[in-house]
Amino acid sequence: MLNTNGVPDKALIKTKFPDEKYLIKPLAITECYEKIPCNPCSTSCPFDAIYIGEDINTAPIVDFEKCTGCGICVYNCPGLAIFIVQKLNEENARFKIPYELRPLPIKGETWSGVNRAGEIITKVLIEKVSLTNRHDRTALIQVLVPLEYINDFVTIRRQI
Ligand code: SF4
Ligand code: SF4
Repeated sequence: MLNTNGVPDKALIKTKFPDEKYLIKPLAITECYEKIPCNPCSTSCPFDAIYIGEDINTAPIVDFEKCTGCGICVYNCPGLAIFIVQKLNEENARFKIPYELRPLPIKGETWSGVNRAGEIITKVLIEKVSLTNRHDRTALIQVLVPLEYINDFVTIRRQI
């Protein structure tokens, strides 16, 4: 799928997720599948939790023991290829996703949840919108997503 239409299939997506036992805390998922010369995720992580190594073309590997879910790498990834996910309970997962479109969502709003093929799959609740002075283009949007879509949800779209 990735090579034909640019959309990773579920098996490939799952290779980027940790074992479910780790998901009780927020963790960074790097959806970087190709070998590309890029490493700001690794160099920006204050906890040394993303490994790329000597060859800058190597796809990043997250050390889920070290990752705190702080979200710094999300702001620093030029490809918007990182998000934070946490399994809250048997009903919901919490995501923190990068978002650069405007207008930004507002806390408390319901937006559409979208999968990697650009299809609307569910409704999601906007819990928080964060912008920093240093990263005023990329907002971090905290979203509550039904747990069944934990491997499908990737971004939001305003409901029309
Ligand atoms: S979320 Fe924070 S701790 Fe985890 S990999 Fe990203 S920068 Fe490092
Ligand atoms: S910064 Fe983003 S695009 Fe670059 S290697 Fe890391 S995850 Fe991939």
